[in-house]
Amino acid sequence: MKPGEGGRSASSDPQWITETVADAAGFRTALSADRVVREVAGEQHLAVFENRSFGRVLTLDGAIQVTTGDEFVYHEMMAHVPLMAHGAAAYVLILGGGDGGVAREVLRHPVAGVTLVEIDRAVVDLMVAEMPSVSAGAFDDPRLTLAIADGADFVDGAAEASFDVIIVDAPDPVGAGAALFTGAFYAACRRILRPGGVMVCQSGMPFLSGDWLAGHAQTLRASFADVAFYLSVVPSYTGGPMAHAFATSDSALKDAPAHLLAARASSLRLAGRYWTPAIHRAAFVLPPYIAAHITR
Ligand code: SAM
Repeated sequence: MKPGEGGRSASSDPQWITETVADAAGFRTALSADRVVREVAGEQHLAVFENRSFGRVLTLDGAIQVTTGDEFVYHEMMAHVPLMAHGAAAYVLILGGGDGGVAREVLRHPVAGVTLVEIDRAVVDLMVAEMPSVSAGAFDDPRLTLAIADGADFVDGAAEASFDVIIVDAPDPVGAGAALFTGAFYAACRRILRPGGVMVCQSGMPFLSGDWLAGHAQTLRASFADVAFYLSVVPSYTGGPMAHAFATSDSALKDAPAHLLAARASSLRLAGRYWTPAIHRAAFVLPPYIAAHITR
């Protein structure tokens, strides 16, 4: 989708941006582009526009990636669930995530180093220029190292047992993002995790892509002894709750007790807008229609 190519409202005013990523499911989402801020036609087509409810919106090859209005949900749940469950992560790897939102939340923890591997520098530059509240200075933090590279190649070349937490902040498994969903990629992630480490990734919208989720769970289980899923509700990712995979060799991690999570949050003075100890634990409770996909 490029602004101007999306569907239009009956009155053709304002312009409507139609996301077509879920076409195979017979489902589209449209947001009004009250103002197109910038477009970058590089290896990936990037666009930033303004919407009256979501604020500034980044699309990548037509798929909504981040909005300034609701990004806190996804970024808090991708960062704090693994980091709070782990409790002592020193080295964190973020794959994708060039908007800087996951990095911003990770850096609220007392980590020693964060490596962020983004394939497209244009995403970082566009986000820092046009949606700076998302990274909020994360790229200037001395603990963060930015590498412009394919995340799958980076993981292949990384030393064994280098990271406590890996956060795969990938777009949908199409185009460049597909490399971050393969069995070989997950095996490599497992190899570079330290003992007791955890990897999380987004696992799509179970209502729209249940069969895909079932296959994704099987692929992850080939590499990780314990694979659980948790949910978040991100308003701009429409079609129901989003699933996130939580993959580790330590089966106790997903059951971190509320009092322990609360103590960790309190020591960081971390008050999330979405993540809380109770939300953390509740997010692992799956409605039967979703649980059915991951247990078959
Ligand atoms: N939260 C988003 C979502 O679920 O829609 C994902 C956001 S983030 C902006 C995704 C990033 O992953 C993009 O900036 C994209 O350039 C990057 N990316 C895609 N494929 C990649 C790869 N193979 N290695 C590293 N980064 C990649």
